[in-house]
Amino acid sequence: MKIPIIDLTDEVRLLGDEINQAISRVLQSGHFILGEQGRAFEEEAARYLGCKHAIGLNSGTDALVIALRALRIGPGDEVIVPSFTFYATAEAVELVGATPVFADISPDTFNVEPARVEACITSSTKAIIPVHLYGHASKMEPLLQIAKQYNLAIVEDTAQAFGGEYRGKKLGTFGQFGCFSFYPTKNLGAYGDAGMLTTDDDQLAELACKLRTHGSLIPYENERTGYNSRLDELQAAILRVKLAYVEQWNELRREVAASYTRLLRDVEDIVTPRVAGYAKHVYHQYTIRVRDGKRDNLHQELRQKGIGSMLYYPTPVHQLPVYSGHPMPSLPVTERMSGEVLSLPIWPHITLEKQQEVVSVLLSSLGKG
Ligand SMILES: *Cc1c(COP(=O)(O)O)cnc(C)c1O
Repeated sequence: MKIPIIDLTDEVRLLGDEINQAISRVLQSGHFILGEQGRAFEEEAARYLGCKHAIGLNSGTDALVIALRALRIGPGDEVIVPSFTFYATAEAVELVGATPVFADISPDTFNVEPARVEACITSSTKAIIPVHLYGHASKMEPLLQIAKQYNLAIVEDTAQAFGGEYRGKKLGTFGQFGCFSFYPTKNLGAYGDAGMLTTDDDQLAELACKLRTHGSLIPYENERTGYNSRLDELQAAILRVKLAYVEQWNELRREVAASYTRLLRDVEDIVTPRVAGYAKHVYHQYTIRVRDGKRDNLHQELRQKGIGSMLYYPTPVHQLPVYSGHPMPSLPVTERMSGEVLSLPIWPHITLEKQQEVVSVLLSSLGKG
């Protein structure tokens, strides 16, 4: 049996009719950018998350860039980010001309460790971007405390954690901005590129709206240099259909995760994901650690046997080629984790039979089957 890391055909089968109707309504409306669907999606997403403003954009990367621009972060400024993330987190900082400073993580949640963040603060630090990696909340209370003490902004990279919570409150509603990606494989995925910003601040919201459309709210009165970064009506209509299912589908993901954890219990050399007491995990990824240097072989064997596991991420951001020749700190936990993590196939409707197959191939590859 071949099992991919994610199979989106299950959801298309379940929602195809609703989605086709939503698409066809947009086609009939003849309105494709900044219309009724986008506005309705923004309202519904803001209500779901419990924040004042949601602003639809082209991508999660643009959400990060526009958040930083709206906070007037630029050349000469430093922004503290984890290195254990997708490059886009640091790339956004580079794109506004500021400098990313990489903080080490906790091995339990794979998220930035507040004490390590605090140790990175200098007089140039302007913001922290915690990433809620794999769908697990960062430690928000200590991070907000640090931000307050040093007068820093918090921009949450919530790309992997739509619907995730910290102590009962939705992620993306803690900082000045929450940044979301609706890349098709994310927990709330569009059928193309799309993203969103959230904020409770009216002025920041207005500025972000301006920036997404060439720095103007009134056509042809451009006040700032901005972007063309709007959520289009087709993607908004698709996202509205899927938003109604996201809570239920995140619950299914938690059930899938619980099954893996049960099947992998007490397997030597495997560490199953931990969930901190403050977090409601949404398992964008189900990521185990494989110890004793066995990860790469296991990854290869799974691939040869048709099981789609992935390394998120094989190289920490501070060691990527884009930074070759730049002096970088050593980040021991990040570096160790990038050699141990292995993400297994997960999507809301993966069957228990497929999960059992994944685990049985995994055990036999480890010589335990
Ligand atoms: C997906 C992702 C992004 C970028 O989102 P896009 O919509 O692909 O631009 C940023 N940060 C993290 C952690 C991501 O997983």
